[in-house]
Amino acid sequence: MKKWKKAIASTILGCLALAGVAQAATLGTLSYWYDSTSNNIYRWTYQPAFWSTEADTWFKDNGYNFTSWVTNSMTQWGSVRTSYGVDNSSDAQILVYGGTYNTLKNYFSPLSSSADGATVWSPSPVYEGEWNYNGSLKGGSYLRGAKVYIVGDKWFKTNSKYHNTVLHEFGHAIGWVGHSSSSSDVMYDTNTSITTLTTRDKNHLVGVYK
Ligand SMILES: [Zn+2]
Repeated sequence: MKKWKKAIASTILGCLALAGVAQAATLGTLSYWYDSTSNNIYRWTYQPAFWSTEADTWFKDNGYNFTSWVTNSMTQWGSVRTSYGVDNSSDAQILVYGGTYNTLKNYFSPLSSSADGATVWSPSPVYEGEWNYNGSLKGGSYLRGAKVYIVGDKWFKTNSKYHNTVLHEFGHAIGWVGHSSSSSDVMYDTNTSITTLTTRDKNHLVGVYK
């Protein structure tokens, strides 16, 4: 992702240099930055719609309410922008799949057997320009589609830990590129039992949705 961004950025810089302008588009100033593993941030430029499905019966068979995690996570992330719509599978921009590792492998073959979940930004985000945060530049791109995979059959996981995975992956689906370094944040890189977004989780994105 870093290499891709650099390639695009240098192409844009090259074009602008020809036109006599020496820098990439400035998108604005961010008041917060909590991503410790990426210098990029994404956003939707319109209200995206979600569609979710259970690709097999594992969650149901084991007494979990997959849909309640999806609904709750949409509501919580909705506080950093207006709200999210729900649409059918062909019209929604964010597609969410829950199921066992073996089932989800059929939908997304690179899925790692050790992953709790995964988010794929597809089609690729489009580079928009640079955000200014405290004197440093952060690459901004807009999203065009996302697929989220939530892996069941992790036998050691509690209900809260599955909920945390859904909430975490939705953060990636709406703009978090990397992870927080704080274990109290949902966007920490490791699965926890935290099922409520922190102010940091939300504030990281709030500036790109103003
Ligand atoms: Zn993550």
